[in-house]
Amino acid sequence: MSLKQDGAAAQAPAPAGDSPAARADWLRAELERHNYQYYVLDAPSVPDAEYDALFRELQDIEAAHPDLLTPESPTQRVGGQPLSAFDTVRHAMPMLSLNNGFEDDDVLSFDRRCAQGLGRAAPAAEGTADLFSAAEAVEYACELKFDGLAMSLRYEGGRLVQAATRGDGETGEDVTANVRTIKAIPLRLRGDAAALPAVLEVRGEVFMYRRDFDKLNARQAEAEEKTFVNPRNAAAGSLRQLDPRITAKRPLSFFAYGLGELQGAARPGTHSAMLDWFAGLGMPVCAEREVVRGAQGLLDFYRAVGERRAALPYDIDGVVYKVNALAEQERLGFVSRAPRFALAHKFPAQEMTTVVEDIEVQVGRTGAITPVARLAPVFVGGVTVTNATLHNEDEVRRKDVHIGDTVIVRRAGDVIPEVVAVVLERRPADARAFVMPTACPVCGSHIEKLEGEVIARCTGGLICAAQRKQALLHFAQRRAMDIEGLGDKVVEQLVDQGIVHTPADLYKLGVAKLAALERMADKSATNLVAAIEASRATTLNRFVFALGIRHVGEATAKDLARHFGKLDGLMAADEAALLEVNDVGPVVAQSIANFLAEPHNVEVIEQLRAAGVHWQESEPAARAAPAPLAGKTFVLTGTLPTLAREDAKERLEAAGAKVAGSVSKKTDYVVAGAEAGSKLDKAEALGVPVIDEAAMLALLAEAQTGDQS
Ligand code: NAD
Repeated sequence: MSLKQDGAAAQAPAPAGDSPAARADWLRAELERHNYQYYVLDAPSVPDAEYDALFRELQDIEAAHPDLLTPESPTQRVGGQPLSAFDTVRHAMPMLSLNNGFEDDDVLSFDRRCAQGLGRAAPAAEGTADLFSAAEAVEYACELKFDGLAMSLRYEGGRLVQAATRGDGETGEDVTANVRTIKAIPLRLRGDAAALPAVLEVRGEVFMYRRDFDKLNARQAEAEEKTFVNPRNAAAGSLRQLDPRITAKRPLSFFAYGLGELQGAARPGTHSAMLDWFAGLGMPVCAEREVVRGAQGLLDFYRAVGERRAALPYDIDGVVYKVNALAEQERLGFVSRAPRFALAHKFPAQEMTTVVEDIEVQVGRTGAITPVARLAPVFVGGVTVTNATLHNEDEVRRKDVHIGDTVIVRRAGDVIPEVVAVVLERRPADARAFVMPTACPVCGSHIEKLEGEVIARCTGGLICAAQRKQALLHFAQRRAMDIEGLGDKVVEQLVDQGIVHTPADLYKLGVAKLAALERMADKSATNLVAAIEASRATTLNRFVFALGIRHVGEATAKDLARHFGKLDGLMAADEAALLEVNDVGPVVAQSIANFLAEPHNVEVIEQLRAAGVHWQESEPAARAAPAPLAGKTFVLTGTLPTLAREDAKERLEAAGAKVAGSVSKKTDYVVAGAEAGSKLDKAEALGVPVIDEAAMLALLAEAQTGDQS
């Protein structure tokens, strides 16, 4: 995905050592070009933060040199030209933009301007948020600033008759046919027809929920069609389709936030009352709004929303403050392109541009090879970012990322930073395409990509240091060999210092060696050695799970242990023999066979046995008596008096039972402990037998388990 060009002018270089006039000219040309890309083509060439910086710079020059101000300047105009493909609509009342604020100071000045404009008493003190006394403080309606596109909906006699985009503020595009497909927008207002206004223009934002955007982009990618840079552009692009059938397939939504023309009904007294009225008429109105007083109230709202921003289901780029009383709004009026009574207070940018200095690959847990862009440091989403994931090779190709490219990087909330798109017009002549290495950068093993898989993998398995760390952590985890105290930090040091190469090396560790590691006291070293020692006595299923064979989880490990009874039996099995195991299909069978075909894996297994790791072997299942509780399904709920949930599960499974997570008609027993909840109710409703722990233990004793765990 690359940001589109208008084809014409590539970016003109900024004039060096320029006069304010030359700089202003250059900024105007730049902003015009970005406006065209953004408003007309829905294909921005730079992130909003970069656009905003240019815009502010031009505003500052014009403020310092009023003679340079021209009526055509982008600072004096709203939006872009209407797209000629649609009929144009002249707005009965202009659709304006909003003035932006970025810092707390911008909010304080806004509040001061409003209060003074309304003739409130002079400020008490400079530099604090509480400039005005409670009685004098202005009342504001606070809302979210939705990142979509503005829409004016005209209802006559309660019916939707026209929908128009903002366009240049005076004239917009008639997109009625498309807007009619948006399910959130009522075609008829609710309420008694006689009481509905003769004319009501509702203004608001068409946008896309993030989950809908993700689904849409996945669909577009699947169909090999253009994917969208962000939900805002997806919403704008979807709405301005010439074929309403396409718009109908796009998941658009709407929130109302303003009033245009009104005839035949009294205007509410405040903005907040107006939104309540809209909601009563069946218009979607966002619930995230509040009425506050004074600048401190505005700043509190901003902080509270900022904290929840990442968790909201849609993108917002700030909050909007509006003087609440509509009569006061009127008194404050407008400047050229925006109302004086409102301010958009923007959040720090979640998208910025930077340069890809290199593309390297990282080796993950299962050997997955992930290309990662090394970036020139950039401050985005509140942190300095130097790396961004590119997910996989296909993704690098789809996004067409080259080394040397300028890219848009996004970081929202705690999400891992990602490259959103390439700014093609800034691609240098010496940009290089990414080439997937054929050998693992960590261990030099061959990298393979299986047919039909997206992810390339290092075939090094346990000899690859990157995978070794993950493999050791997997080996040591509670459900595998259960070595308490062998965590990230210890494993990291053991592998990096070349002390441990394979899990078998763990059994050679002594207290002295461990105590020499960073942040490792004698006591913890002694405990760790004891834990390693204790892990020697294990079960076959835990051991098989601990090996970390791809696709072999705990359940499959149990099936394998039960089926073969002995490790040698499993190691001698070919794919056909593996396929006979309960729940083992061709993918799993092949993965086990591949693992066992690697000589170094077999070597590690032998070393582990030689180190004294042991378990009780049993007869292969085919010859053993069928597991006594085979075919029975249990569900555990509540706290059992003596057994931990995990232990109870293990014992039941060892006896051949299945332990399920939810109750159905197929459940044979529900084992209920203290504070059992809805599962117990469901069991009773379905007539499933409910037993306690004692009864379960009795069943297990009766079954005389051929325990393997
Ligand atoms: P704006 O986005 O700063 O604010 C005005 C718009 O906010 C309104 O028209 C409305 O659509 C929207 N809005 C959302 N919630 C609202 C609410 N609760 N109440 C009122 N309005 C609400 O102004 P703009 O003139 O639409 O566009 C300017 C912005 O667009 C810039 O700040 C920039 O971030 C972006 N832009 C980017 C590029 C680019 O190349 N990346 C180009 C042009 C514009």
